[in-house]
This record gives sequence, structure tokens and C-alpha cells, in this order.
Amino acid sequence: MSISVNWDLDSIFEGGSQSKSLADFLSQLTTDLDTFEAAGVPDALTHATQPAWVDAIQTLFDLGARLNQASSFVGCLISQDVKDDKALQLMGQTEQLGAKLGAIWTKFQAAFAEQDDAAWTTLVTDTALNSVAFYLNKSRTLARQKMAPELETLANDLATDGYHAWGRLYDIVSGDKEVEFEGKPTSLGQLQSRFFDDPDREVRQSAFKLFEESWADLAKTCALALNFQAGFRLALYKHRDWQSVLHEPLLNNRFSADTLDTMWDVVDAKSGKLLDFFDAKAKLFGIDKLSWFDVYAPVGEVNQTFTYKDASDFVVDSINTFDTDIAAYCRMAIDNRWIESEDRSGKRAGAYCTSLPLTRESRIFMTYNGSYNGMLTLAHELGHGYHSWVMRDLPYGARRYTMSVAETASTFNEMVVRNASFDASQDDQERLSILATKLNDAASFLMNIRARFIFEQAFFDERAKKQLSVDELNDLMLSAQKTAYKDGLADYHPLFWASKLHFYITYAPFYNFPYTFGFLFSNGVYAQAMAEGPTFQKRYVALLRDTGSMDTEDLAQKHLGVDLTQPEFWETAVDRVLADVDDFVALANKLA
Ligand SMILES: [Zn+2]
Repeated sequence: MSISVNWDLDSIFEGGSQSKSLADFLSQLTTDLDTFEAAGVPDALTHATQPAWVDAIQTLFDLGARLNQASSFVGCLISQDVKDDKALQLMGQTEQLGAKLGAIWTKFQAAFAEQDDAAWTTLVTDTALNSVAFYLNKSRTLARQKMAPELETLANDLATDGYHAWGRLYDIVSGDKEVEFEGKPTSLGQLQSRFFDDPDREVRQSAFKLFEESWADLAKTCALALNFQAGFRLALYKHRDWQSVLHEPLLNNRFSADTLDTMWDVVDAKSGKLLDFFDAKAKLFGIDKLSWFDVYAPVGEVNQTFTYKDASDFVVDSINTFDTDIAAYCRMAIDNRWIESEDRSGKRAGAYCTSLPLTRESRIFMTYNGSYNGMLTLAHELGHGYHSWVMRDLPYGARRYTMSVAETASTFNEMVVRNASFDASQDDQERLSILATKLNDAASFLMNIRARFIFEQAFFDERAKKQLSVDELNDLMLSAQKTAYKDGLADYHPLFWASKLHFYITYAPFYNFPYTFGFLFSNGVYAQAMAEGPTFQKRYVALLRDTGSMDTEDLAQKHLGVDLTQPEFWETAVDRVLADVDDFVALANKLA
């Protein structure tokens, strides 16, 4: 049987961006949203009004699920053809509906906060809303910690052209910048991949030099944007009486400061082991110490290329030796044409998995180019798909999980496939390369992301006192990188605070620690799966299903029997990640 490289979208809405059924769907959704908005929040919650509340909240979730269905679909249309103007127009339409629904939610959340405690408890425990009680309680708690609703509305409105505008300014300034490299016009993003990936050290070095110079040109503007958006956030937190800048990101990720501190302490204590990896890599390059631009440079070689069919078979087969249920899901997603993988122009870059809540399916978007990394991407995205799949029968309000656990199943799949390919390989250069890519991830999550976190915390501490200059930001970053990289590099990237988009994402402050959390959490789960064998499958599915309805510590306690505020779980996870270091060093010595 041949495997399609194009996905099936017609079974969701027939006819692409010209789809009549999609147009009808959107117009009905618009009408229903307007009707719901006009009806407003029900009267004060009592025994008598409770049914109206149950109805209204269920309608809210229903509208959310329908909007999600439409916007996921429209996102797929744009990804497969970035020049599809009709799809772009539809995206504008769904975004408008999203803004409207968001405003209604805000109103409801403020109303949740005002209702009587006992009546609220009855509402969320004794009614059809029981299965989404966690989500509703979280919303209510958050609303209670905010300012009065009219002040929140004002702050929100001012943020559009204030707070968020600094992020947009950054996007424009950095996106527009073009330089000449090797005689060709080059964006800063392209320049970055040259100093990350190019096998030639001289190319990496000159690309990085130009990269730093280019960001130095932009640094003054970036520094203003960073200072002002942070100032906005600090002022808002002050008015909400929030003591810590981590309050919001921790709430968003559903775990405590204790857990975060414990995780970083363990990382700090153990990540020095990566310096053995750096030293071995430096030796392969014939240098004393790695520079910033050497950390991800390729070593070894995976010469093989795989057809899409071979890659999908390898993914399914290797997962199958580990878990037949996940493998069966992957097979189904591939055979049902849930994956768009064709290598052609006109598609957007990158890869993602998007879920369609009404049809209880997912779609995976990627461009498969025959490389080993492409195969890992396929495994990774299928992990996301599996996560949604095991939650498909849950109510919509119980299917929403946070970034901290979102990478559990994807990273898990990737590990299974990486390890299977390592075991299958007879070629030392290939094995070296596989180990290096695993350890590159370790360096990213344990060092690079940690440097971002250390920097951001120090920056907010200082910013509370004054605005920071370019030089002061550079100093903070340099010191954060030296700490996180254990003084293991010959030189660093002080302008990283300017070049890294993540510091400017106003919608998700501290867009860093959830990455490390997710990576280590998945590794901890994997360690348990390896230790326990096939009986772990049931617990794995149960854990994934609960990701939308529990705090992360409770999730780990219930399904893994571990306490995330204590070091043991994190130690096991970090040890697992670092277990490849000695193998890499031995292999590198053999090949040197
Ligand atoms: Zn992912």
C-alpha cells in the first residue's frame, strides 16, 4: 500500500478555503456568539439560577470547541499554501471571533469571582460541570487575584497599543534587518542557522561575528522595548498586588515555585557533566574549548536518507517494540492521511500538530526532506497527536493542558525512536551523531534555557529599580550564561537578550522554564516506563488524560508516585539525560 504525502482536509470541511460548509459553519458560529453575548452573564448564582449557569458555561465551552475546530482547519489551509488569500481572510475572521469569545470569557471569569463560595462549590461539584471543575476553579482563582473587572478591562485595552506593541515593534525591527553574507542578502534567522549548523568552523565564526554586529546595531531599540514592556508588567503586577514576577507564569503552568526551585537546583548540581561532552567535542574540532557558535555544530554523520514510507515504518516499528497502543495510533494517523509531509515550495516553515476537537482528530504539518531529523520530527508530532487522541472523549474544558506537560508525549516518542535508531546503527560516525544530537538537546534545556531564566529573573530585579542600558543588559546576560554553562565555553553571546525573540513574547512571560520542565518531566516519565515495562502503558495513558484537569504536582503524585517538590524525580530525569555523555566521550576518543 502506498502512503500519501498529502493530508486529507476535505473530510473536515470539503473544498479548502472555498468550502461552502466552512462558510456556513462560521456564519452559524458568529450568530451563536452574538446571541450568547447579548444574553450576558446569568443572575447571581443561587439554587434557582444554577441551571442557567450550567447552560451558559456549557455553551461557552461549546463555542470554544467550535471556534477551535474552525481555526485549526484554517491554520492548516494557510500552512499548506501560504499564498492562499482566501484562507488568510478566513484567519482574520476566526481571529475576530476569538477576540470576541475571549472578551466574553473575561466577563464570565470576573463573574465567577463574585459568586458566593458555597453556591459556587455546589455548581462545580454537583452538576454536569463536575468534569471541568478544575478548569473553572482555576479561572475563578485567577480572577480573584486580579484587579476589579473594569480596571482589568482598561489595562487590557491599554496593553494593545502599549505593552503588546513593544513586542510587535521588536518583531518588525528584527524581522526587517537584512545583511550581506557570502555575497548574498541574508536575514538574521538565516545567519543564525549558519553559525549553528555549518560544518565549517570558519563559516560559523564569521557568521556569528556578523550576527553579533548586526544585533549591536539594533540593541538600543531592543533595550527600550525590553525595558518598557517589563516596566508595564511590573506596574500591572503592583496594582494586582502580585509579589513575584513568577506568579503569573507559574499559575499558567500549574506548578509551584518550590517545584521550580527544586528542578533548577538539581540541574545546577548535575549539569557540569556536560562539560565532558563539550571537551570531547572540542577535541574533535581540534580546539581547546568550544565557542558559543560551536555548541551545536554537527559531529559524526548520518548518511542515510529515508523515504517517507521508510521513515514512517521505522517510527511505527520502533514504537511498536515499546508500546503497541501508541504504535497503532501512529499507523492509523499515517494511513488515514492525517499528515502533510510533502517537500514542495509554497508551504510554511516548521512543523506542528493541531487538534480538531469536534471531529476528535489531529492533523500534522511538516515538510519531510528525507533526513534523520525529519524522521524525528514525525515521531515528535505523532506524540502530540497521541496525547490529543487519548483525551478525545473528555469534555472540551478538561482537554486543555499547559506548556509544562504539552511536550510529554512528543519528547517520549522522540526518545523511543532515537534510541531505536542508535541500537540499529552499526556505523560509529552515525552513532556519534545520534548521541551528539541528544546531548545538544541536553545543553539546550539544561544550560541555554537556564541562562535565559537566570537572566530574566536578574533583569526584573534590576528593572524594578531602574531602566537598564545595553551594556548593563549585556553584563547580566554574560553572567547568566557563565553560570548556566558552568564557565565551560571560550566565549559567549552577551546580546542574546536582543537576539532571542522569546524575551519579547508579551503573551507568555518567562517563556523559558516550561521548556526545561517539559523536557525533564518527559524524561522522568520515560525512565519510569523503562523501569516498569509494558504495564506502564495504562498509567501513561491515565497520566496524559489527566493533564487537563490537575495541577502538575498532583498529576505526578497520582500517576508516577513522585513528589515534584523533592529532588529525587528530577535527579532520575537529569541522570537519564546525561547518561549519554560517557558513551559520547568514549566514542569520540575512539574516532579521534
Ligand atoms: Zn512539540
